Amino acid sequence: MLLNDDKNLKMLIDKQKLYKEALDNKISNVEAKQFVDALFENYFLDNDNINFLVSNGVNFFNLDNNEQCFCLSNIDFKDCCFKSLKKTKNSQYNTFLKAIINKEDYNNFLNYSNDLFLKHYRALGKEEVCHYNDCEKNAIENNLYKFDFTADKFFTTYRKNSFDNKFTFGENFFRVANPETFNYYGFCSEHYKILKSIVVKEDSSEDELTLVNFSSLLFKLFISRVHLNALKEEFCSIYNSLDGAIKPLYIYNLRKVSNKVSSLINFYSKYKKWMKKEENNFVIKRFILPKTNNFLIQDLVYPQVTPDDFKMVNSINNVFVEEKSALLGIFKNDKSTYVTFIYDKKDEKITSYFNQYWEIIENKEKNIEFFVTNCSLILCDNLLISSDYFNKFNEEEKTFYSALNKFRFENPSMGQEYLKMKFFAGFIKGNNFFK
Ligand SMILES: [Zn+2]
Ligand SMILES: [Zn+2]
Repeated sequence: MLLNDDKNLKMLIDKQKLYKEALDNKISNVEAKQFVDALFENYFLDNDNINFLVSNGVNFFNLDNNEQCFCLSNIDFKDCCFKSLKKTKNSQYNTFLKAIINKEDYNNFLNYSNDLFLKHYRALGKEEVCHYNDCEKNAIENNLYKFDFTADKFFTTYRKNSFDNKFTFGENFFRVANPETFNYYGFCSEHYKILKSIVVKEDSSEDELTLVNFSSLLFKLFISRVHLNALKEEFCSIYNSLDGAIKPLYIYNLRKVSNKVSSLINFYSKYKKWMKKEENNFVIKRFILPKTNNFLIQDLVYPQVTPDDFKMVNSINNVFVEEKSALLGIFKNDKSTYVTFIYDKKDEKITSYFNQYWEIIENKEKNIEFFVTNCSLILCDNLLISSDYFNKFNEEEKTFYSALNKFRFENPSMGQEYLKMKFFAGFIKGNNFFK
């Protein structure tokens, strides 16, 4: 509905711009404005930073009546979800924030959120239209990965229910991937067939690579929209029941998911223009590496900081900064592993991130292997590790890889953040899943 109508999409993007401008105008003091701008380039906002931003009208913890509704309906909050808020209080409400305190509550939360997520998954799937060029047929259920999950066993930290993301340090978060873990609605049966017939190899055309990677974007976008729709229902039914201490954190989380979806929509609309050859705005970087059966991935990569001049690409906790991402695909045949990175060459942050890495890597095979492994493990969600390879890890390695993969979803303290960055620094050493 939202995505298949270009006019609507454009309106949405314009409206976001307007809101940002209005925010800029609210801050009349020049120095404060400069400081706010500088904070928006921070990788990590500490409490003082956030307090300063909040006092200058950047509403991390509550919703403004006149802002565009978090559900991305293109309508002001006061005329949208605010109107659907249930007035009566219910003490039996169940949210992530309430449930993380004790284990029994968390199990109840998982049951409830699984149902809520699947309900919205099906509802959105029903109305989803094929995203292939201008096709308008109904989308069918697709799978992001091409192989048969019952024949090949893989481990993943990815969970179908997006609410199921409570990670505790020291825990092994990997589970066997079910066949339906990576399902989504993206293409009609005809275009899904075309997608599935593509075998990525050395001489694959740009169009083929573009389409295969497009499916990773559609997967993430679809699942994130389901998550937002589910949150919207939860918000309307329980927000007035939340106790005061939880409310601000609840809104913060709502903004995080909303920002993720609107950032993906921007990425989607640019990518679509590239696919239709209306704009020459993306670049494909390919690598051919030795064959590996150890792991696979098709996903979006969310870079953190540029390796050379340490500029922020994505902020870890500023929910008002557009999320920047690129596409990563790892494909294999009997001879080789093919790796593709696809990114917006007109985006300054993303291009400087990759350009700085290409320089550090110097096209050396070992360096590429480390970089690809670290991107898959640390900056992505959909990593699949073959069970043969995974079972060779000891318990410490399993918990360590879980931490590297899940840690960025938490809100770590400054000290933890520093440790993590030390671990990740370089990115061309440390973990190599090709070996
Ligand atoms: Zn709304
Ligand atoms: Zn189609």
